[in-house]
Amino acid sequence: MTLAKAYAAPSPKAPLEPFTFERRAPNEDDVVIDILYSGVCHSDIHQVRDEWFPGIYPQVPGHEIVGRVRQVGKKVTKFKEGDTVGVGCFVDSCVNCQTRDEDREQYLPGLIQTYNNLDADGQPTYGGYSDHIVVKEGYVLRVPDHLPKDAAAPLLCAGITLWSPLKHWNAGPGKKVAIIGLGGLGHMGVKLAHALGAEVTVLSQSLAKKDDALRLGADHYYPTNDAETFKTLAGTFDLIINTVSAPIDWNAYLGLLKVDGTMVLVGVPDNPIPVHAFSLIPGRKNLAGSMIGSIKETQEMLDFCGEHNIVSDIELIDIQDINAAYERVIKSDVRYRFVIDIASLNKA
Ligand code: NAP
Ligand code: ZN
Repeated sequence: MTLAKAYAAPSPKAPLEPFTFERRAPNEDDVVIDILYSGVCHSDIHQVRDEWFPGIYPQVPGHEIVGRVRQVGKKVTKFKEGDTVGVGCFVDSCVNCQTRDEDREQYLPGLIQTYNNLDADGQPTYGGYSDHIVVKEGYVLRVPDHLPKDAAAPLLCAGITLWSPLKHWNAGPGKKVAIIGLGGLGHMGVKLAHALGAEVTVLSQSLAKKDDALRLGADHYYPTNDAETFKTLAGTFDLIINTVSAPIDWNAYLGLLKVDGTMVLVGVPDNPIPVHAFSLIPGRKNLAGSMIGSIKETQEMLDFCGEHNIVSDIELIDIQDINAAYERVIKSDVRYRFVIDIASLNKA
């Protein structure tokens, strides 16, 4: 076991504070990673505040991890000391399942999340707001070396969460794709959909982010606080990805789909969503959900980002500023992802 320095929420809704804990000793198939950068996902806030399900406390969030390999077990073949690697939302999955499907493993029972979960040994998992982590080789990702390590961290959740549905629903040339919400996930959706060749529209609450959206690769931008937007864009999109967790008018957005179009939820609202049957039936429309992506898809996304030089637009923060950063995320006031410089854990 090794002592890890971290920040944790001691209890639901309490601010994060310094915390130390023992990381498990590495097995022969494990990689020990010194964490360099950790992205701040809105899911971290939902979970430390106990908004989804009863959480495990103290809770060390963080599932957008980029680091450097410190040590590898003797059965590890894919990584060596010094490699730049990433860890995303899960660190183990259905190890006993005979039918493990590597393209869909995030949907199998037995998924062990990077934090706020119990590991195979029954101990809590602790995430990336910490100085090192021990992860099975099969759950470690290779991060292209030429990408900036801090701005690459959000690819491990925000990137893959948009990549997976974009690929699954064939976003590409000739397809009209809308992204609702230009936050951490949404801005990655714009960059990835644009690089895949789709025609991209951003639907944001106001005109405030228009210049940014166009710079990030959007072809069009419409404010959703203007009722005209819903008249102008009626029946336009093949695919809409909704990254918003706040309540929205679902029926109005479904009206923007073409016949046979699909709206995919990735944002997680607190309450059941009110959808009228006539928002779906007349246009044979689809309403679907999507959760992160498999390890295989995540590596494909990282390689694609390496080829296309795609990273996140970030604000780099010290870990001591994490509670203020959370408040800014909640106010939609982050451009467009906070990333923690983990070296700041050593500041007094
Ligand atoms: P974020 O950075 O806070 O972005 C959310 C965006 O939603 C905001 O930037 C804002 O965009 C929009 N928004 C906020 N309040 C709104 C309101 N009252 N009405 C309409 N729009 C509003 O969050 P994130 O990190 O991208 O995460 C988004 C959601 O996805 C969270 O619920 C998170 O838990 C979830 N998530 C899901 C998965 C998955 O696998 N499905 C993975 C990661 C995260 P505008 O300012 O442009 O309107
Ligand atoms: Zn996330």
